[in-house]
Amino acid sequence: MNLIFITGGVISSLGKGVITASIASILEEIGFKLTVLKLDPYLNVDAGTMNPLEHGEVFVTFDGGETDLDIGHYERFTNINFSKKNNITSGQVYLNVLEKERKGEFLGQTIQVIPHVTNEIKNQIYERVKDFDLGIVEIGGTVGDIESLPFLEAARQIKIENPNTLFIHITYVPYIKNTGELKTKPTQHSVRELRSIGIQPDFIIFRTEQKQIIPKVIQDIKNKIALFSNLTKNNIIDIPNLKYTYLIPYKLLKNKFHKLLLKLLINKKESRKLITIKTKDSRWNKIKIFLSSTKNLKKFSLAIVGKYTKLKDSYKSLSEALFHSAIHNNINLNIKWVDSEKIEKDKQLSDLLNVSGIIIAGGFGSRGIEGKLITIKWARENDIPILGICLGLQLMFIEFCRNILGIKDASSREFSSKSNNFVVELLENQKQITKLGGTMRLGNYKCKISPNTLAYQIYQSEEIEERHRHRYEINLSFLKQYQKDIEKNGLIISGINPETELVEIIEMKNKKFFLGVQFHPEFNSRIFNPHPIFNFFLNTIKNQT
Ligand code: GLN
Repeated sequence: MNLIFITGGVISSLGKGVITASIASILEEIGFKLTVLKLDPYLNVDAGTMNPLEHGEVFVTFDGGETDLDIGHYERFTNINFSKKNNITSGQVYLNVLEKERKGEFLGQTIQVIPHVTNEIKNQIYERVKDFDLGIVEIGGTVGDIESLPFLEAARQIKIENPNTLFIHITYVPYIKNTGELKTKPTQHSVRELRSIGIQPDFIIFRTEQKQIIPKVIQDIKNKIALFSNLTKNNIIDIPNLKYTYLIPYKLLKNKFHKLLLKLLINKKESRKLITIKTKDSRWNKIKIFLSSTKNLKKFSLAIVGKYTKLKDSYKSLSEALFHSAIHNNINLNIKWVDSEKIEKDKQLSDLLNVSGIIIAGGFGSRGIEGKLITIKWARENDIPILGICLGLQLMFIEFCRNILGIKDASSREFSSKSNNFVVELLENQKQITKLGGTMRLGNYKCKISPNTLAYQIYQSEEIEERHRHRYEINLSFLKQYQKDIEKNGLIISGINPETELVEIIEMKNKKFFLGVQFHPEFNSRIFNPHPIFNFFLNTIKNQT
């Protein structure tokens, strides 16, 4: 079993998830059948109940897992679909241990962090990587945190049981402006902390904020870190701030990191066979060439209207999906984040005046709803290309019912209890649900697409599958009752679930692009395989007159 553990030191937010994804991507390209696990020290059983403003987006896997946003990085950088099993939280681990205890599986024993919790962690890791050539395991948090200790202890034990285990420690080397120096002391401390737990890193990847550092200074820094951490200089890798995170894999390849890694991980002869990939032939070289020439591209602005706009990570997959499709369309896309509550308060659309397209993002609760409805009305009346995602579709339908069908109190049961026309209703099977965690309509569901529609033009297929995360849906009995009026007024139901007939896609006739989807296409976009909806949307924006 080949295992690589990735830990973080000094501070959080160093881009550990992106570096892990980059390493996975390079090793995937070399030919490894690999998997990536994220171990999260928090006690939530999964990320599903966490506020996006606090923790960033909840990433939904094909099998309905509500996972940490790092799983999204792993998917976007590779061509792998990860499962809910790729995210292990302390909450899950403790839940399992306690359930076993209640069943009497440890009868007579005192249940302790070591060995019961650490054994559970080890078993979960072994179980999830056993069918692969390689398992890459990112440990969340920063070394020194109380919460991550059981994970680190389990990793230490794994190294003893399974010698083909490497440790990569990611740290930060701050730049002190006053003296113009880069400082290695925090890294030294963090390595010391790691070693006090019994883990000797095999590589240290350090991040710096300085873009251009004189090579001599970098060499000095590497020498110093090497000396304090029992490593050779070669095994200390620097990653400065780069303009795009998608340049990190190229940077690692250029530093020959993959060669050093493979030499340590597998025997020399085998590793020579594997390292056939040349940096210039890598798929990441093409990305790098593209990203180096973005200056000359035509610029377009697009607004994302949502209520979690204060933390961009809340819509991570969405902004990344747009970036992928911007590359695909050869354009330079500027995203304008617009707080729907501000539109609601000011009753003004000044933020939207100069954009070429609008996205109404998904969300929960009633806050900011009116601002989104005002935006949809304006986009519809002025034929501005607009894409509604999940809650966005529901609001497009409500706006249509209110302003075109004249049903003034059309609403969703999610927003109020007072309306005679809930055109968006709680899903039938949600009515009995009392627990909040993991109970939405989650993950992949099929969608049947009607021919001769925008949706068909986009997908070029009559059946697709996309990821979902919602509790409410367009009210089917209302739809049946008003079907004729709806059709007559230009709204088309272009995608439905073949088994339940739930509405998956709506669109409007004779518009440049007016599309609402009940699913989240952003979870299926990859840098090497951008999503057709965003490709088509940006292509419309690019070509509109
Ligand atoms: N709040 C809506 C629902 O639960 C939409 C969810 C979303 O946008 N992801 O149906």
